[in-house]
Amino acid sequence: MSSPILLAVEDLTVSFDGFKAVDGLSLYLERNEVRVVIGPNGAGKTTLLDLICGKTRATDGSIKFKDQELTKMAEHQIVHKGVGRKFQTPSIYENLTVAQNLELSYPAGRTVFGSLFFRRTAAIQKRVQEIAEEIYLDEDLDKSAGLLSHGQKQWLEIGMLLIQDPELLMLDEPVAGMSVVERERTAALLRKISNNRSVLVIEHDMDFVKDIAHKVTVLHQGKLLAEGKMEDVQKNERVIEVYLGH
Ligand code: ADP
Ligand code: MG
Repeated sequence: MSSPILLAVEDLTVSFDGFKAVDGLSLYLERNEVRVVIGPNGAGKTTLLDLICGKTRATDGSIKFKDQELTKMAEHQIVHKGVGRKFQTPSIYENLTVAQNLELSYPAGRTVFGSLFFRRTAAIQKRVQEIAEEIYLDEDLDKSAGLLSHGQKQWLEIGMLLIQDPELLMLDEPVAGMSVVERERTAALLRKISNNRSVLVIEHDMDFVKDIAHKVTVLHQGKLLAEGKMEDVQKNERVIEVYLGH
């Protein structure tokens, strides 16, 4: 049996000229868990994702993904280990179609038939179709990505990560600017993809958080303020004081 812990963050600290944006933080994420990180602006949420994906180097502490230390790895190595990260603004190719965006994200040399062009092409087409259905874009495969709605662009970027089959998917405020319907569909999408991977989400929309979170981690000034089930965290006086009460 493999360990239920997929990601172990321990005593993680990053100091920017003496200012600790993340300060002695520990958190443990299980396989197939959806964890939501909440907290006021400047709490260190985005910095936490930057540290996990290798964009920012930790000053101290450790980040273990499947027992492998990530803090010394380059960003592309971390992606290769199975960690996908979506930034706040979608980075899709607006001039290409939905299908082309997905194809470009398909990992190179992944299939055993890599050298046989037609077999590889067939495998890619099948995977593109599967992903497109998952992200509600199977009827828009030939559409220019630039013509998609804001929400659809967010889904496309999620699809571009899913096609790489990460074991951990990290998303920074994925439903910001989405319509109510799009939020509900995004929640359903995240619940579905967590059947076989873990998801770490930063989000401010509390209805959305309630809809998807197995557990919630509350950050404040780079430190862990509270952690647990949403219904418990919501009653926590300090959480109400620094975040939910506003
Ligand atoms: P959140 O996502 O919770 O709103 P951030 O992680 O973006 O917060 O930022 C946490 C704090 O760290 C903020 O005060 C921000 O200004 C600071 N910060 C983030 N990145 C840097 C950086 N590269 N250099 C200096 N300060 C930074
Ligand atoms: Mg942020």
